[in-house]
Amino acid sequence: MDPEKLIRPLVRSLHGYVPGEQPKVRRLVKLNTNENPYPPSPMVLQAIQKAVDGRLRLYPNPSADALRLKLAKLHGCHPENILVGNGSDELLAMAVRAFVDPLPPTSDGRAASSAHLNRSTVQALFPSYSLYPVLAEIHGARFHSVPLAANFDLPPSLVSGTLNPKKTKHSPPTWQKDAALSFITTPNAPTGRAFRLGDLNAICEAQRGVVVLDEAYVDFAPEHAMALALRHPNTLVARTFSKAYSLCYLRVGYMVGHPVLIDALHRIRDSYNVNGLGQIAAEATLSDLPYYRANFKKVIATRQRVTRELALLGFEVFPSAANFLLVRPPGFPAKDWLQKLRNRHILVRWFSHPEVDSFLRISIGSDSEMDELLQAVSSLLRSAPSRKSRGATVRTVRGKGRNQG
Ligand SMILES: *Cc1c(COP(=O)(O)O)cnc(C)c1O
Repeated sequence: MDPEKLIRPLVRSLHGYVPGEQPKVRRLVKLNTNENPYPPSPMVLQAIQKAVDGRLRLYPNPSADALRLKLAKLHGCHPENILVGNGSDELLAMAVRAFVDPLPPTSDGRAASSAHLNRSTVQALFPSYSLYPVLAEIHGARFHSVPLAANFDLPPSLVSGTLNPKKTKHSPPTWQKDAALSFITTPNAPTGRAFRLGDLNAICEAQRGVVVLDEAYVDFAPEHAMALALRHPNTLVARTFSKAYSLCYLRVGYMVGHPVLIDALHRIRDSYNVNGLGQIAAEATLSDLPYYRANFKKVIATRQRVTRELALLGFEVFPSAANFLLVRPPGFPAKDWLQKLRNRHILVRWFSHPEVDSFLRISIGSDSEMDELLQAVSSLLRSAPSRKSRGATVRTVRGKGRNQG
């Protein structure tokens, strides 16, 4: 028997999401997966430790009720507006399952009608979180990718007032109002750019399908879009305790939105999708928000300093409202930088997709970790082949398109 044949054809051809590396080696400067350099608050660690006893044999609360109550207070809504997940990744996958029809099997010969296509369409901007196309593929849905503007801002087809740009044969794919589900990451990853609330509001208002605003990095940004989830019946905001609240390990995220959409998601979720220690840790986190707000300030200050210093070293640095920087490094191809930094025990992220393969994404670590990075960068640049031109092309942060340099 060939076990391969037991697998659905769709699953046989899946690629799967490739997460950033979690290395076994200790004493690495780990700037590749946007984890927070600061630990959870002492109160959170205490709450977890106190909960580790014989009670681990019991099932946790199936719908994270205490946590949802606290979140509802925080966001000025009701527990019925909130769904907690095993990380926000789980909730993104559930949104695809709840709101998007799989494409009909291609074997039936007929082309799908455009109404059917819309019902089967997951839409996202590019570049953005690379999990979205993977989720669409797993579900057997169609993925529609709309390129961002050259400076990584929203494309003209999406910004209010220019919703119907003139189409030519060569114009890029445009945003579709009828897509069953649209993901917008704001601030975006891996670019770091935050989209304006007014633009997001106009998009949610015009969209006829569901819009998920993925705010995984919003605590490092100047504004958030939570109000849109409570104003528009088609809009969900996804948040996570992973990045800003230093809880990646425990996997807790949540979605906020209209009770009808939230209820649909509840009906398809696993009964005990959020582990008990995760619920306890997230609740304790919400009781110590000032600790975290102080950390956000530190991360933002470090981000601003590293932005300036990398720009002085000849890096093109894109303005970031997140806890990472997208940079185009000078001297060597980005892929070589990845390896050269790795050799010096510094991990950053590089994406092989041809449209983003000249960039590195660097998470903001502690000040001393970033000093190690800056020292390694300076020393590597001294060995770069074309040092002469470098001094002449020091870039400023603003107003540089990705086709420049
Ligand atoms: C990290 C990340 C997530 C996932 O967070 P988890 O809650 O840890 O699953 C979701 N969206 C974006 C854009 C992210 O970068």
